[in-house]
Amino acid sequence: MACVKAVNYTIVLNGESLEPFNAAKGLRQEDPISPFLFAIAMEYLSRLLNELHHYKRFKYHPRCSKLHITYLSYVDDLLLFARGDTSSTQRLQECFTIFSRASGLQANLNKSAIYYGVKVIKLIEAYCRSYMWSGGNEITKRTLIAWDKVCLPKTVGGLNLSNLHIWNIAAIAKTFWDLSHKKDKLWIKWIHTVYIKEQCINSMSIPMNASWMVRKILEAREIINQLHRPLKDKKSIIKQIYLQLTPMLPKTTWRSLMCSNATRPKAIITMWLQCQGRLLTVDRLKKWGLSVNGSCVLCHTNLETRNHLFAECDYAKRLWGRLSQWAKVQNISSSTWEQQL
Ligand SMILES: [Zn+2]
Repeated sequence: MACVKAVNYTIVLNGESLEPFNAAKGLRQEDPISPFLFAIAMEYLSRLLNELHHYKRFKYHPRCSKLHITYLSYVDDLLLFARGDTSSTQRLQECFTIFSRASGLQANLNKSAIYYGVKVIKLIEAYCRSYMWSGGNEITKRTLIAWDKVCLPKTVGGLNLSNLHIWNIAAIAKTFWDLSHKKDKLWIKWIHTVYIKEQCINSMSIPMNASWMVRKILEAREIINQLHRPLKDKKSIIKQIYLQLTPMLPKTTWRSLMCSNATRPKAIITMWLQCQGRLLTVDRLKKWGLSVNGSCVLCHTNLETRNHLFAECDYAKRLWGRLSQWAKVQNISSSTWEQQL
């Protein structure tokens, strides 16, 4: 693109045109040479991707290996394919980064999506879960709260992380919604012409000769039919479905402590564990069979339990009293943790 320097602009100010200035890079919109330059740039990417088969650790997408397909591009849309393992996706990413640096073209992340199979989703979730509880990148099963619960909204006791399993179901259901609402796209026209053929999409039998993917999309009508609120076209359809598929649980009494709390993230997590009754107090450690000193570290007399540490302990009561005084609020100290909450 450095060779293209012919474009210049002039600004008309108060009816007078000012000195022309050159554009830093690029062409005018709709310039007839643009498609050719674009084709040259994409040819470079194509050659980079065609080299991938030299790398032993790069594996093709299972459905693309026979034809050695790694990408499809249409106008400015680009589809990249690989097996969903770390080394293959890294290789693909590296190729795209080299192409980006050379051409100046970058992916719009807001319009990009990655599709994984269920196995990979489970693996990603296991990494997220392990990272949350151990801070490392090794998969561990040691967790204090079940992942399904962690993924709930904050108002019902979760941390509002995305539940990839439900998100995946919502994404498939959204595709069915597209199929029944947007008839102007080519792939939708194709499915309508080949499989649906003027039948009612909600009651027709699933065509057994259709591909696995088409059948899965049509089966997702069950999900759409069980939603209790109509979907609004202007908002994200996947998000609306996702929220409706998230279990409706009673709101916690301590939800105001979790939402819009400006304290440190670590303190929020500690408080969250405390509210869930999962803080590693001595009584819980003893139940697990660990030999630890059982007495409270503050008063050295009673057993350290959640209730004792935060409500019953004399030291804790004095602390709550002083804190309330300092914050000029009514003394919030009470005899049990539940009451305090
Ligand atoms: Zn104590």
